[in-house]
Amino acid sequence: MTNNRRQFISRLAAMLAAAGLPPAVLADDDDHESASSSGTTATSTAALPSTGLSGRVVVVGGGMAGASVAKFLRLWGGAGVQVTLVERAPRYTSNILSNLVLTDTVAMTSLAFDYGRLASTYGVKVVQGEAVGADPIARRLTVATASGLQVLDYDRLVVAPGIDFAWPAGLETPEARSLAPHAWQAGPQTLLLRDQIRAIPAGGTFVMTIPPTPYRCPPGPYERACVVADWLKRNRPGARVVVLDANAGITAERENFTRAFEVTHAGVITYVPNAPVTSVDTATRTVHTAMGPFRGDALNVIPTNVGPRLLADIGVGNAARGFAGVDVLSYESTAMGGIHVIGDASATTQPKAGHIGNQEGKVCADAILRLLGGNLPDPSPVTNSSCYSPITLSTASWLTAVFAYDPATGTMKTVPGASGEALAASKDHYEDMFVWFRTLMRDTFA
Ligand SMILES: Cc1cc2nc3c(=O)[nH]c(=O)nc-3n(C[C@H](O)[C@H](O)[C@H](O)COP(=O)(O)OP(=O)(O)OC[C@H]3O[C@@H](n4cnc5c(N)ncnc54)[C@H](O)[C@@H]3O)c2cc1C
Repeated sequence: MTNNRRQFISRLAAMLAAAGLPPAVLADDDDHESASSSGTTATSTAALPSTGLSGRVVVVGGGMAGASVAKFLRLWGGAGVQVTLVERAPRYTSNILSNLVLTDTVAMTSLAFDYGRLASTYGVKVVQGEAVGADPIARRLTVATASGLQVLDYDRLVVAPGIDFAWPAGLETPEARSLAPHAWQAGPQTLLLRDQIRAIPAGGTFVMTIPPTPYRCPPGPYERACVVADWLKRNRPGARVVVLDANAGITAERENFTRAFEVTHAGVITYVPNAPVTSVDTATRTVHTAMGPFRGDALNVIPTNVGPRLLADIGVGNAARGFAGVDVLSYESTAMGGIHVIGDASATTQPKAGHIGNQEGKVCADAILRLLGGNLPDPSPVTNSSCYSPITLSTASWLTAVFAYDPATGTMKTVPGASGEALAASKDHYEDMFVWFRTLMRDTFA
């Protein structure tokens, strides 16, 4: 284990311990060939003990944040806390590692996680359907299911629907969007973009855009530029990647990505800051930006991220771009009592990231259980965000940050000295990336 890695793992261990997780989950695990959750060990808690708490909690969205809060509400709350998870899809497709599907390094099937363990091990009731509205006074959620509308009564509602997109001019129709896929919600979009990258000829150009902050996964677009560049070098000699960033500069892991763009992938990646998209012309495969037009053989336009419409529909989309303002002690909406918003849909000082979604799920579960017991939320929560970024198809760097509640501002603030990025990309970090991923997904879905 390198010093770099040891430092990172010990920081992570401290954070997971603060979040109530045993450090044992960080045990070295060199079996990184498959990213799937299969083969995880299960603790059989089918008959959960009673903790004396009772209540009905409905969770919307079974992604990184929603699955975590559902699991930990039951695990910590016990038999009397009824938890219903409403999710539109039969299984979750992880965004994390999905950039490696674009390069055929990871199979899409290994990024799928179902809700079987949440149901069988923790007794979460899973309803497949689309949450379409809520009556916050009567505390009822309406869900459209295959068999019609269902109404679910709740004492507390947790909303974790992720993000939506504000489409630029030229991408108003599904047909146009299919010619410039975002692949920022893993699934069919990822496969579509992979096929379009494969069709780039030798000497061709891949043009991708980065939306203005805040967007989901700050290092994700830079990571994508790097792995696509590496794939093109190996498979399409002379091909280039043009990165059009709406922001003034690299927004995450600045040192590692600057080195990656200027040294590792020199001559292949062209980075253009201050280039917000003004329109997209799919007929000529041109992205128009504040820095001029850019033509590519394949386009990847990641639109501005916005809060899903459900937030506005239920009266909690009160922050910039329709995200939800929350009290980070409990993630309760600042606009509507009894409704908590976690994950990418909430507006906090923490990044929109899957690891943070998992942490917010735990803080929110703990706060709801305290509230159900007539107590106040923990006044000093601490969270951690970690992220590995492949820089080539065999090396990765990482980024981590620790956040602690600051009572003066009512926000989560980074803890000095407990945050930072890897000194350099390495093969070791690349291997650790799969261990981290499996640990996080096991903690969320199993
Ligand atoms: C390419 C890429 C790489 C990434 N890499 C990393 C990484 O390395 N590390 C990291 O920490 N993060 C990473 N992320 C970010 C991470 O994936 C997201 O931040 C995370 O998924 C957010 O979790 P969430 O639960 O808020 O939303 P999601 O995971 O998107 O889950 C939302 C869920 O809600 C469901 N839903 C939405 N609306 C409704 C409704 N009305 N009714 C029912 N269900 C609904 C959706 O179907 C979905 O399952 C990456 C993202 C991308 C795109």
